[in-house]
Amino acid sequence: MKMDRLRQNELSREETLDPQDWESFRRLGHRMIDEMTDYLRQVRTRPVWQYPPTEVKESLRQTIPIQGQSQEEIYQEFCRSILPYPGGNIHPCYWGWVNGTGTPFTMLAEMLAAGMNTNCHAGDHSPTHVELQVLEWCKHIFGFTPGAGGVLVSGASMANLIALTVARNAKASNVRAMGVTGIRQRLILYCSTEIHFSIQRAVEILGLGNSSIRRIPVDQNFRIDLRLLERSISEDRRDGNLPFCIVGNAGTVNTGAIDDLHGLADIAQREDLWFHIDGAFGAVAALLPEFSEVASGLARADSLVFDFHKWFYLPFGVACVLFQDEQLHRDSFELKTAYTDLVSHDRGIASGPYAFSNLSIEQGRSFRALKIWFALKETGLEKYRRLIRQNLKQAKYLGHLVESTPDLELLAPVSLNVVCFRYTDSHLSDDQLNRLNKEILMDLHEGGLVAPSFTLIENKYAIRVAIVNHRTRMTDLEMLVQETLRIGHFRLARPSKIKQQGAKIETR
Ligand SMILES: *Cc1c(COP(=O)(O)O)cnc(C)c1O
Repeated sequence: MKMDRLRQNELSREETLDPQDWESFRRLGHRMIDEMTDYLRQVRTRPVWQYPPTEVKESLRQTIPIQGQSQEEIYQEFCRSILPYPGGNIHPCYWGWVNGTGTPFTMLAEMLAAGMNTNCHAGDHSPTHVELQVLEWCKHIFGFTPGAGGVLVSGASMANLIALTVARNAKASNVRAMGVTGIRQRLILYCSTEIHFSIQRAVEILGLGNSSIRRIPVDQNFRIDLRLLERSISEDRRDGNLPFCIVGNAGTVNTGAIDDLHGLADIAQREDLWFHIDGAFGAVAALLPEFSEVASGLARADSLVFDFHKWFYLPFGVACVLFQDEQLHRDSFELKTAYTDLVSHDRGIASGPYAFSNLSIEQGRSFRALKIWFALKETGLEKYRRLIRQNLKQAKYLGHLVESTPDLELLAPVSLNVVCFRYTDSHLSDDQLNRLNKEILMDLHEGGLVAPSFTLIENKYAIRVAIVNHRTRMTDLEMLVQETLRIGHFRLARPSKIKQQGAKIETR
């Protein structure tokens, strides 16, 4: 009797987060797609980047909502305060850091994946089978055998951590049980001075410490010096250390240099070391026949990392790590618990393929494979090849423009899609040029026409262009050159301004 009343009362009060009016939700959704379509279509007409105005920043600091608001109001606020002030990387004239552009179709894929909201940790459902399919395609692209393993993660930093975990565990016995303090000898990892900082971060997280990294000098093309590498390995052996891993670069973040991958693979083989390749963006060049040497080098890695959100032009949040030896990958992450796969099931949702949650540190996993599936099917490898080649030609063209312009100086050879240059003047010291070029970069950003980023090449401040942008045109790069010259000339006409305003540049 009492329970009946309770049931009656609650039945009338139960709530959900679904719309009360599905039809107005549908209209709002259609409007979002309409307006986002215009936004993407007109991206070129807006500044690459602009500061969010102070009022906007202030309006984005609010107390936590206690009562809900209407969807319409929230969307209005998004359109007013968020959408007009993006990071800039969807713009044709953005070449900063290595930030991919994304595509309209993969934006929709993200919406559909969120709509399905499947947890891709495991299970017999189409999302896990799509992810397996995507991994098969990845192996195919990079010449890994069908028996190889791999997993999709949030980005190349995470992928490098997953790869180096497997490398460490494969080369030092019983780390999972005993921890790194149980390893008698000091594990040593080798890479060049041009290595991305995510490798250092991974080594630190793995408990090996930054001093376990040997940063080997590079040649004039920013490729690791193999002779110095070999010498360093034998010194470590002599000193009683335990060399365990070589990390090769396929596209360094500074200049796009690709190490001699076959040379590294030979040394790793001879010395019985794990060979990992960080190919975050550069590995993609292996799609082109003219990079067949690189492609065959990538296929010799024990583990390979590459991003989809860089040179595959996908929206952020997805990279892949591949392993030649699937079992070693599983051995590093597999855990069998009462609530996951301690008990195996041959029917029902739990009867699916090997759990992805046993292949990285994530349990809850978004359906990030869907946007890759959409992108590869929509574009096809043929068009990917054309787009990648287009970016390579654009980089070469910019390199030539810089070299043929008297007041500009190329600071590194253009070996891939990265161009490092500076404005120069024979009356100025390197220190003054550093300050001047930093001012130029900030002016370029504030001008909103073009957005390169920066790096230091042998302590020289470089304006750095990394083209992972399917919207860029040659004329955009001509504009970059024009703007750089214009600002450089303008600033040199007022040299006092440089001295006063130029902040000191930290050099390593
Ligand atoms: C971008 C990059 C990374 C890190 O990748 P995220 O996807 O940003 O985590 C690692 N290595 C290289 C060479 C990179 O360019």
